[in-house]
Amino acid sequence: MNRKRIFSGIRPTGEIHLGNYFGALRNWVDLMHQYDCVYGVVDYHAITTPFEAKTMPQMVFNTMAALIAVGLDAEKCMMMVQSDVPEHTELAWILSCLAPLGQMERMTQFKEKSQQDPENINLGLLAYPALMAADILIYRADVVPVGDDQVQHLELTRDLARKFNNAFGDYFPEPQPLLTPTPRIMGLDGKAKMSKTLNNHISLFEESDVLQQKIMTAVTDENRKRRNDPGNPDICNIFSLHNIYSKNDEVQMIDRECRVAGIGCVDCKKILHGHLETSIAPFRDRYKELHEKPDEVRDIAREGAKRCLPIAQETLQEVKSRLGIGKHQFV
Ligand code: ATP
Ligand code: MG
Repeated sequence: MNRKRIFSGIRPTGEIHLGNYFGALRNWVDLMHQYDCVYGVVDYHAITTPFEAKTMPQMVFNTMAALIAVGLDAEKCMMMVQSDVPEHTELAWILSCLAPLGQMERMTQFKEKSQQDPENINLGLLAYPALMAADILIYRADVVPVGDDQVQHLELTRDLARKFNNAFGDYFPEPQPLLTPTPRIMGLDGKAKMSKTLNNHISLFEESDVLQQKIMTAVTDENRKRRNDPGNPDICNIFSLHNIYSKNDEVQMIDRECRVAGIGCVDCKKILHGHLETSIAPFRDRYKELHEKPDEVRDIAREGAKRCLPIAQETLQEVKSRLGIGKHQFV
């Protein structure tokens, strides 16, 4: 049976958080049973924002360990590190030459990341979506599971695939996004999306005491100043996490009681902490275990790259041949 192909990636830029899990990774695990999946720790994307060379290997390791800890199985999918398959960056250059500068400049993530760090607006940050397109198209993927912050980049990927096909003959599928029911989780500040680099996140492997402290200091409905003020769950970040982690009747109880000041934020947060702790404990245990057996993680990454390389090489060769490049072997 010819399964459809999936590619998705995650940056090794910090601790994997609840947003990554609900926006992407949980889907990744479900999908490995039905699709031919390639999942990447995309280190060339990580260097578009400030990073430290010293800690990069550990970041890459941790991210790969996170993928395994949430339930990805090397027997059922390919897990690779982007820089182990250099064809990604070669195809990215080719796609960059098809990408209109105006469209790249209008990308929301480029604008947001440029605003967050105006000192570091580099060409790579602008070109990021072309590299992401290459990550996907090098495997001729049909489907890409992402959070809603990546949907715009995927639209560009489709545009580039179409443009290539029109100019050089049909070759690439136009990959479709696959969103989870919770494609956007807000950060603990309640203002921006939860993000590794904004430091507003709850790690998926958080120790219980840190977890408790982060929940207790998280922003709720800012208009609710005192315990006896009624609150508004519709604008409360903690309530949105209850929607994910608590059973229906409990969610309804909190919704009702919050509005009449029957339950305070502290009690509401304690309930959430209990559920979150139960839910992440198995991930945390497995993540620790993998740090004690690092070879297991390294072997999986090595094997993943070995399986990805021939697919990526075949695509690149075909693309170059259609461009009339790489035909003259002077060496
Ligand atoms: P960074 O701050 O380094 O960009 P990030 O938290 O945005 O990190 P990425 O590695 O860029 O994480 O994205 C990995 C996947 O997680 C993507 O599919 C993205 O759509 C998804 N994702 C990231 N943040 C969220 C969020 N807050 N809610 C839902 N999905 C998210
Ligand atoms: Mg991101």
